[in-house]
Amino acid sequence: MSADQLGDASELVLDDFEYLKTVGTGTFGRVRLVKHKVTGRFYAMKILDKKSVVQHRQVQHILNEKFILSSIQHPFIVNLAATFQTTRKLLMVLEYVPGGELFSHLRMREKFPLDIVRRYAAEIVLAFEYLHARNIVYRDLKPENLLLDEKGHIKITDFGFGKIINERTFTMCGTPEYLAPEIIQSRGHGKAVDWWALGILIYEMTAGYPPFYDADGDPYKTYEQILSQPVQFTSDFDSDTRSLVRHLLQKNKSQRLGNLHGGAQDVKQHRFFDGVNWDAIFQRRTDGPIIPKVKGADDTSNFEDYSEDDDLLDPAKQRRPLKFKGGVDPFVGF
Ligand code: AMP
Repeated sequence: MSADQLGDASELVLDDFEYLKTVGTGTFGRVRLVKHKVTGRFYAMKILDKKSVVQHRQVQHILNEKFILSSIQHPFIVNLAATFQTTRKLLMVLEYVPGGELFSHLRMREKFPLDIVRRYAAEIVLAFEYLHARNIVYRDLKPENLLLDEKGHIKITDFGFGKIINERTFTMCGTPEYLAPEIIQSRGHGKAVDWWALGILIYEMTAGYPPFYDADGDPYKTYEQILSQPVQFTSDFDSDTRSLVRHLLQKNKSQRLGNLHGGAQDVKQHRFFDGVNWDAIFQRRTDGPIIPKVKGADDTSNFEDYSEDDDLLDPAKQRRPLKFKGGVDPFVGF
């Protein structure tokens, strides 16, 4: 799908779309399946509430997300078709990925066998290699942000924490269980955090739960474990998986695989990936290991049900003007 299928995005208005089911929610809005009336094509529309984005001090994150998504194109990253805005909302029109979150598939099967873990890990490694080569750090890898397309391939979504880096950056963001030691310690973090998170993901896909977590959900206890506890393996892990996870979960980022001189190449050459044909994976020559049940382009059955009580379709509410601090709309260029 290419961005130009929606014509001149700056001309888009809410009424160009039919609003179907909500497939996901976040702090600042929701993601809905929509149908573009003229072309009949389905998209996932990320609808963000400007007021709540400003209140949560997320303006820069959202601008980063738009900037990054509109400047990249990769088989395992969700494609952004267009963005537009109304007085009160920011709208991102994304390719609709119908297979649901990897999270749901993992919870359904509890854990994945090695060949499935290897395939998903390989697709993510290729996406990270691509992003890092462009100095983009993703910073929010977790099974909820990985969607499966109709062929069973990974699509990374949610670039809200994505950042273009020059040096080290210092903001605290992400999900407790997936935070790298250097983020908790505010020591700055670059590409190394993505490789750490890949280690957590490979562990969670293999064991069914992440290596560091607190049963009562106390994030500070999780942070303590991340900082000081060695990773412990169950019998689910063979020696190659253990070795790769240990190298990715190096607490000292200067020793972490992926963050050494060879970069992503070191990860690809680890024996866990022996036999992987990287070109074939990149070219999507074979289907993914789990083919989601998708009955049509507008099938939402792989997503949870959400309430639909939002104010998007109330024209009176949409017209009500918003006042920004200092009188300046921070989303002018969106
Ligand atoms: P986000 O706010 O980007 O994290 O999205 C919230 C949720 O909406 C995700 O966890 C997915 O379940 C769903 N979602 C996001 N983007 C898409 C997409 N392009 N296609 C289908 N579902 C999506």
